[in-house]
Amino acid sequence: MKLYNLKDNSQSVDFDAAVTMGLGRDQGLFFPETIPHLSNVEALLDLPVFERNFIVLKALLGGAFSDEQLKLIIKKTYDTPVKLKSVNDSTHCVELFHGPTLAFKDFGAKFMANCLKQFNQKGEKITILTATSGDTGAAVAQAFYGINNIEAVVLFPQGRISEWQQKMFTTLGDNIRTVAIDGTFDDCQKLVKQCFDDAPLVQTMGLNSANSINISRLYAQVCYYFDAVAQLPEQNRKEVVVAVPSGNFGNLTAGIIAKTMGLPIKRFIAATNANDTVPRYLQTGQWLPYDTVETLSNAMDVSQPNNWPRIEYLITSGQFEADLLQGVSVTESQTAQAMKNMYRQGYISEPHAAVAYRALKESLLENETGLFLGTAHPAKFKSSVEDILSIELIFPQAIKAIKNKIDLSISMKNNVDTLKSFLLL
Ligand SMILES: *Cc1c(COP(=O)(O)O)cnc(C)c1O
Repeated sequence: MKLYNLKDNSQSVDFDAAVTMGLGRDQGLFFPETIPHLSNVEALLDLPVFERNFIVLKALLGGAFSDEQLKLIIKKTYDTPVKLKSVNDSTHCVELFHGPTLAFKDFGAKFMANCLKQFNQKGEKITILTATSGDTGAAVAQAFYGINNIEAVVLFPQGRISEWQQKMFTTLGDNIRTVAIDGTFDDCQKLVKQCFDDAPLVQTMGLNSANSINISRLYAQVCYYFDAVAQLPEQNRKEVVVAVPSGNFGNLTAGIIAKTMGLPIKRFIAATNANDTVPRYLQTGQWLPYDTVETLSNAMDVSQPNNWPRIEYLITSGQFEADLLQGVSVTESQTAQAMKNMYRQGYISEPHAAVAYRALKESLLENETGLFLGTAHPAKFKSSVEDILSIELIFPQAIKAIKNKIDLSISMKNNVDTLKSFLLL
């Protein structure tokens, strides 16, 4: 299936090119002209998860892979479970955080890594260069670890991320090179951008950013919406409302794609923290990003969400009704209250999911079933969870083990020429 550049629809490419390039001309996002519809979704929901994911992805990808290749990619991507946990009778958390870095980003990163691996059978040099403030870099490093002919270079701001977060990607070694930059996260991002502006370097190194605008990451996320609805008892699948804690709006885009394909979701709630560009836009029709503010749900501290044009396109092309999307912005104290509220019902959550829970609670009608996405494991936001709930959290076993591993990162000045020579080593 062809993917069009949303800024310039004279550019259309196949899936492999879209994944390899990331962005199109003028920084335009790739997207299919029409989302395919699936027939007999009821029967699909009763299938085992691997078979269901195969049908969903096959519809989106067309002939990008042979059936065998696609099955292998699916097996490697969805090797950790999506768990539906009830907070109460009408509200359930879709836990997406049982992967290697304890966040939903593992699904998209793993899928992208395995797609690129498959597209690169000739073994050309590919270098994934990415800057991280903690989350994305870890997911990308874990996903690309051990993949032949693809090297990942992850930059992070020295001394500004927690020890275990850092160890989640700096202890891997092999084809994962990690660099502690003497600077801030913004400095790291700037260095990455400077490298991508160097056309010969991009060419020689086969540079790719693996960031969340890559269409492959979205496609991977479509599957778990099907999985979540499939885990509901059949009588509760009629009036499903999904609240998505949103930053760059990739996750919500994936949900809307799932609905457009035929998944029975009645409506969506775009839940944000104080960075509320989208909720304000949905109310006033004015796109007015303010300066980004820091919140408890810091992975959602985004004021110019880069996936929004995809949702806008689904609306303007008549594939998704704008009325079915409600924007809700949640304050810091409401976020903390929501965590306490869930804790009283026996469920420990963290700030990102809590934003969605709060928005859902505000909006859910009596006969509706509410789902909210659990995007990160509570241990990932240990200190705020412990502060707000006055409890002590136990780290999952997987994290405890990395504490004793050796940090293999190197330190580097905030200097693009130093970085470039390092890349070319
Ligand atoms: C990245 C992230 C989000 C935001 O997801 P988007 O797809 O960018 O909207 C929410 N929660 C957590 C924990 C994240 O890491």
